[in-house]
Amino acid sequence: MFNIFLQPYQPFIKLYPLEMNKLNLKGLTLQELENYALSIGEKKFRGKQLFDWLYNKEATSFAEMSSIAKPFRDKLTENCIINSIEVIDIRESSDGTKKFLFELEDGKRIESVLIPPRTAFENPWAREEEDQKRLTLCVSTQVGCPLDCKFCATGSMGFLRNLTTGEIIDQILQVKKYTGKRISNLVYMGMGEPLLNYDRVMKSIEIITTGMNIAARRITVSTVGLVPEIRRMAEENRKNKLAISLHSLDDNIRTQLLPIAKKYGIEELINTVYYYYKKVKRRPTFEYILFDGLNDRSKDVQNLIKLSRRIPCKINIIPYHKVKSTQHLMINSMLRPTPKDRIERFVQKLRDAHISVFVRSSAGEDIDAACGQLVIKEERRKLKRNASIVKHSKVEIE
Ligand code: SF4
Repeated sequence: MFNIFLQPYQPFIKLYPLEMNKLNLKGLTLQELENYALSIGEKKFRGKQLFDWLYNKEATSFAEMSSIAKPFRDKLTENCIINSIEVIDIRESSDGTKKFLFELEDGKRIESVLIPPRTAFENPWAREEEDQKRLTLCVSTQVGCPLDCKFCATGSMGFLRNLTTGEIIDQILQVKKYTGKRISNLVYMGMGEPLLNYDRVMKSIEIITTGMNIAARRITVSTVGLVPEIRRMAEENRKNKLAISLHSLDDNIRTQLLPIAKKYGIEELINTVYYYYKKVKRRPTFEYILFDGLNDRSKDVQNLIKLSRRIPCKINIIPYHKVKSTQHLMINSMLRPTPKDRIERFVQKLRDAHISVFVRSSAGEDIDAACGQLVIKEERRKLKRNASIVKHSKVEIE
């Protein structure tokens, strides 16, 4: 039924294969919704109305779309759906950080973390946060992740699949619905490497910036350093901000922490970030988790100073917290957090060199806020539950 409507729009059909014979509208851009309206004999402006209802008014059913004529709504009900991800758990930390656990259509799970502004006040290291009013949501882009960074819970899960554009967008819509609050900033730093799901991530940013009142300069995409995609972002002049998980400027150390560094060495990565900076004229952020004795030496400070002389940038220092689910790994068991006084000295040396440096707060530590931790915990619980059901039924059979 639905594909008959779309016959004049073959490329559109290729992009959106029929799923259960109905088209999921959540995840379509303004232009795609306008094309869809035209394809079913409606006026183009109907697409704009749909766009507003989906992303601005956060409608979850066609019945709610009161400004849309009934015959059009009937057509939509017959041919389309509005898929939603389901909130199955919300944990709130003592510092106000909230972690949302979602279940997707196929039963897989992801998480998002809402970071309140007051953590910026409470954390003495974060007093210089540029905007203390912001409410930031950290979103996921993949279920699991194939890159296996040694300090990361998500990495230890392996890779299950990429999220759809609709699933990325819906994390924001669901969190807004549950909290009743406007989200001011987004970071693509949850489960998964965003640049491995490049097209959907960029499409979600297009929808968010045109329909959800969050400017591109308030959106940060964080990568472990995928060189071709950083170059692509530069060439496409993407307006969102870029953060790179750096953690060391020494190839030997970096490859121990991030296996992808074997493919993209530090020289190639830094040259590409320089190219990005020259092309888009926006300062990148370098993320730097401090590990005791590994990347917190004077030599490392000097390397960071040298880097920031070449590329004007911000540096985010992140205190390391051990992630239980990765402790079986040899390298992880060797990773220790740098003591607080040494973090302060490290940061001070960078500030003395006039570098823009922030210390990320340890928000949500008591609710497993680091990406992937809650999903892994829940999956383990599920496995245990299933194992006990199997054990139980076995006893009954016997
Ligand atoms: S840190 Fe990011 S890229 Fe690395 S394994 Fe975790 S989710 Fe993947």
